[in-house]
Amino acid sequence: MSKGTKIPGYMQGKGRNPRGIIGDREIRYKCSLQNTILDVLRGRPGWQEVPGQNNVQQNVQANTKQQGFQSIPPITRNSDGDWDFYWCDREWLHQNYDTMFLYEHQKILHFRNHYELTRKNLMVKNLKRLKKQTEREQGKAEGLSFEFFPTTYELPSEYHIFVEEFKKNPGIIWIMKPAARAQGRGIFLFRRLKDITDWKKGEYQPLSDPNRDAPETYVVQRYIENPYLIGGRKFDVRVYVLVVSYNPLKVWLYRSGFARFSNTRFSLDSIEDTYVHLTNVAIQKNAPDYDPDKGCKWSTQQLRKYLSAKHGVDAVRKAYKGIDNIIIKSLQSVQKIIINDKHCFEMYGYDILFDSDLKPWLIEINASPSLTASGKEDYELKFGLLNDLLNVLDLENRLTGKEKRIGGWDLLWEDGPILADDGNMECVPNGNTTTIPNSFLGCHNDRKRQLRELYMAAQSVKKT
Ligand code: ADP
Repeated sequence: MSKGTKIPGYMQGKGRNPRGIIGDREIRYKCSLQNTILDVLRGRPGWQEVPGQNNVQQNVQANTKQQGFQSIPPITRNSDGDWDFYWCDREWLHQNYDTMFLYEHQKILHFRNHYELTRKNLMVKNLKRLKKQTEREQGKAEGLSFEFFPTTYELPSEYHIFVEEFKKNPGIIWIMKPAARAQGRGIFLFRRLKDITDWKKGEYQPLSDPNRDAPETYVVQRYIENPYLIGGRKFDVRVYVLVVSYNPLKVWLYRSGFARFSNTRFSLDSIEDTYVHLTNVAIQKNAPDYDPDKGCKWSTQQLRKYLSAKHGVDAVRKAYKGIDNIIIKSLQSVQKIIINDKHCFEMYGYDILFDSDLKPWLIEINASPSLTASGKEDYELKFGLLNDLLNVLDLENRLTGKEKRIGGWDLLWEDGPILADDGNMECVPNGNTTTIPNSFLGCHNDRKRQLRELYMAAQSVKKT
């Protein structure tokens, strides 16, 4: 099948939807996960699961060798029917993207080289580069807006620079993290160089052994020693961000998320205790006194309310503006590197840590934030989040494409900042609303009512 070939049900030619979306038949999807996303897809009216294996591919140009085109990768397409929407895993995309042909209307999760932002070492490398460029072009003061990621070095490649930095700041705590692992695996804290000597020997020394794999890349990062504490416990905040295009950059921010608390009171006395220092649910749920009913999460609404009561609305708004800045700067740092493809979208899970001055720090960005629910409330959050994501992608073509808010997603950036025009009084104090960014993290999420009104309004706009 060649580009432009007619596929059943897909509107083409005259009257074709310019946004390339299916018009007159069910939407066919594939999903490689067995959790909330599958429930959402299965529950969506007019959507139908494509049966068959995830990874089955058909080689359309199987005979390239005979035809003498060895250097050109074969074009492949899905053998088990054409899907319109694929929530695939990253491995699948890596294996198939380069040889995949996609129709105009197809949507697939992940950009080809998403790891530029989601691998810990690459994220920092890209941020450092944009920071330097900004300082060069706009001055040192502008570079200060990048002071949201802790000092970080890649190991082993930057070991010597790290040692110099280490010696300049005796006594501070560092955290060591494998660059490509997740859920707190392989992480440890240390104060003395001596503490990592043994580790370093084990990891990097016997390179003369030819059977040894290349050493794993780590990042060593300044540990934030003064986290903001609630009830004596440390927490970080999971923020969901949806990128539907890198060029132009178009970014949505979900107003609901959660704070993940550590189960044990914070202290710097026991830096080897992961239950104190790592807030990952995967770690905390193994703590001896973990209560699965209570869990260790607060909604972002609860958190914002708590912080506003304690510090005032303005201070919290300033802190949350810092989160907007983190999101936009980090995405801009890879904007020119990410292979932009109109078929691709990405839902990132940002991990943000507040310090005791309420300054937000970027800890890491996940391309596959967990969609497995840890309880009823968590399920409701994720169910709404993912349904609203499908509403934003709008394969049903029910919206106008000009919306600034869809369910719980607020449009934060579209080739420039988006400004709020429907101020939420709880979060937006009186003043010049034109300077207020369209960002409502932790604000009331009345998504169902908003969607009802939105679809009614979009219908009447489309009729006229
Ligand atoms: P992973 O991908 O394994 O989850 P993270 O970088 O997210 O690795 O770190 C795991 C946890 O460790 C974070 O959720 C946070 O609680 C804590 N942490 C990580 N880096 C720092 C840091 N620089 N300062 C303070 N705490 C940190």
